[in-house]
Amino acid sequence: DFDLTAPFQTAFTTRDQHEHRHKVRPVQIIAPSSTQPGKFRLNESALNSVLGHSACANKKVVVISVAGAFRKGKSFLLNFFLEYLYNLHKSQQSDTSLEWLTDDCQLHGFHWRAGVKRDTVGIWLWGEPIMIESVTGEMFAVLLMDTQGTFDNNSTYQQCMTVFALSTIVSSVQIYNVVDNIQEDALQHLSLFVEYGRMAMEQPHNFGKPFQQLVFCVRDFKNQEEYEFGENGGTDFLDNVLQLNPEQPEEIKAVRELLREYFEDIQCYLLPHPGYKVAERQSFRGHVKDLRPLFREELKKMVPNLLGPHNLKPKIVNGKTVTCRKMIQYFKEYAASFDG
Ligand code: GDP
Ligand code: MG
Repeated sequence: DFDLTAPFQTAFTTRDQHEHRHKVRPVQIIAPSSTQPGKFRLNESALNSVLGHSACANKKVVVISVAGAFRKGKSFLLNFFLEYLYNLHKSQQSDTSLEWLTDDCQLHGFHWRAGVKRDTVGIWLWGEPIMIESVTGEMFAVLLMDTQGTFDNNSTYQQCMTVFALSTIVSSVQIYNVVDNIQEDALQHLSLFVEYGRMAMEQPHNFGKPFQQLVFCVRDFKNQEEYEFGENGGTDFLDNVLQLNPEQPEEIKAVRELLREYFEDIQCYLLPHPGYKVAERQSFRGHVKDLRPLFREELKKMVPNLLGPHNLKPKIVNGKTVTCRKMIQYFKEYAASFDG
């Protein structure tokens, strides 16, 4: 179900922008192979439609990925990223102040859904990069990546591992989305996936850590007596989860050491429950005014922390920043490396 119709436009006028954005869709770039069970194929034309446009080919690319088990609000979260980035772009182009997540706003873009029916496994990209001026004045092309994997049986576990590993390799920020807590098994999955990804990279060892930023996003966090919501509470919470002590069994230690060794930076955000309309109503249509105010406040802090002009980090491979054009090539190489 590839949508190749997403148009690309870089020089929006403010008037066109709203309308333009509604025509863009996520495109699936990694999909299960229809001929070889358990394998994936790369949709090159979809990839080219997102990254191949001459206006962004030479721009440095920032890739924000969201991964984790299904039906945990990943796609929903990405719509906050879209909302922020498009409004930031608009404010930078028109030199006006940034307003976003206002009362009249309706979230849309990545499809979110209730219920248990599974989507296909794979990797999607938002249909165009969003151009953001970084704090140095340089334009970055920001890509949003949605992943879908399941852990429910052996064959889907293998697929999930590929999806997670590939999305970690190509992203500058991997957001690991979990609910309520960072459980030991979630850490174990994560370290397996990351190890699998590192093996596929065959990166020379003199280039430092293989991956850039890992961000745990804990949804529906409940223990706010002990840890406050947001980044501060998240940092304390994560320190506690990742701490090493002599009494820990070897495998518990190994998982923590591996994560510290493979990622340059690890962060954590604790988010409150979004409110019953989001969580329980089939009829929820993304109206911001239906969000629990506390949730909205925390997102208004978290999203600029991750995606603001001060904080955007272009993708680096083997010590070099990567352009959109180069990214197409990396995708092809890395996707091929999982084929064997
Ligand atoms: P994904 O499969 O991880 O991409 O999950 P979706 O984004 O499709 O969301 C699955 C369901 O969870 C939808 O019904 C959302 O409205 C709901 N949802 C989104 N965010 C949250 C959250 O933070 N907490 C709760 N409890 N539900 C959420
Ligand atoms: Mg989803």
